[in-house]
Amino acid sequence: MDKIQTHAKLVVIGGGILGVSLLYHLAKEGWKDLVLIEKGELTSGSTWHAAGQCPHMIGSYNLAKVHLHSTNLYKQLEKETGQATGFHDCGSLRLAYKQEDIEWFHYIKGILDNVGAPAEIISAQEIKKIHPFIRLDGIVGAFYTPEDGHTDPTSTTNAMAKGARNGGAKIYRKNRVTDIKLLPSGEWKVFTENGDIVCEHVVNAAGSFCPEVGEMVGLKNIPSINMIHHYLVTDEHSEIKKLTKTRMNDRTSSSWKNLKVLKKKKLQLKDKIVKLSP
Ligand SMILES: Cc1cc2nc3c(=O)[nH]c(=O)nc-3n(C[C@H](O)[C@H](O)[C@H](O)COP(=O)(O)OP(=O)(O)OC[C@H]3O[C@@H](n4cnc5c(N)ncnc54)[C@H](O)[C@@H]3O)c2cc1C
Repeated sequence: MDKIQTHAKLVVIGGGILGVSLLYHLAKEGWKDLVLIEKGELTSGSTWHAAGQCPHMIGSYNLAKVHLHSTNLYKQLEKETGQATGFHDCGSLRLAYKQEDIEWFHYIKGILDNVGAPAEIISAQEIKKIHPFIRLDGIVGAFYTPEDGHTDPTSTTNAMAKGARNGGAKIYRKNRVTDIKLLPSGEWKVFTENGDIVCEHVVNAAGSFCPEVGEMVGLKNIPSINMIHHYLVTDEHSEIKKLTKTRMNDRTSSSWKNLKVLKKKKLQLKDKIVKLSP
């Protein structure tokens, strides 16, 4: 691989969705001379493993704004960059099994109303209209966010990478950052396998490896730890396949489906729903 450039305004370490998103947004803001360095391929860290759920139902005001911004961005990024993101705006349902869940939903709805993310608290009967395959035993209602969905994390990251490159940012892959030193000038020297680069700002977006990168500048004990996180990928179910993407998790999570497709197929499905019911 060729040596990398020797100077930049900002160097992002890590080409997961976080680092690439930052690169994209700074390029959009008009920042010039941006560089990202990735030791493997873009998304080869946690991003590659992500299920890609992009829920609007978030109990923090600022994070809810970030999530809404993300889904709005993913919906139009292909138009801007020519690279598909794989985003499906299928909407989501979060099920309530007790009255406290509904009270919690009201709290979240207050946040989403402020942020501008559409949300409704719906009855168990209304769930059936949206998702005919859910058994309603014990369910007292649901939180319905019609405009969120799920995305393909790798395609989404690559779409943002393309947007960042279009804005002049440079991405170096297969190049590990090995050390960082503060220079007397106040600039940073980032040491990489393919040469060193001096810059004004360094961003640690190394995901699971951010403690190791933090240690390069003397930061000990960055409070970041890997957690076990898993999901199941099953064979296709012929009826569910017709509804496109459907995800049903347990009571703390979401159930997904493509509402637009369902609306079109509602009549054809009616018979099958009866057959599937216990
Ligand atoms: C099984 C699973 C399912 C998930 N599902 C979801 C979901 O549905 N929705 C959701 O929002 N989130 C989900 N997540 C979480 C999500 O994947 C992460 O929050 C996100 O990908 C983190 O992105 P990142 O850019 O911070 O880190 P990463 O994607 O890990 O990127 C860090 C990058 O830094 C690079 N790097 C590290 N050290 C160096 C170095 N010294 N030099 C150069 N490069 C370096 C790595 O190679 C890596 O590519 C899931 C995670 C897992 C594991």
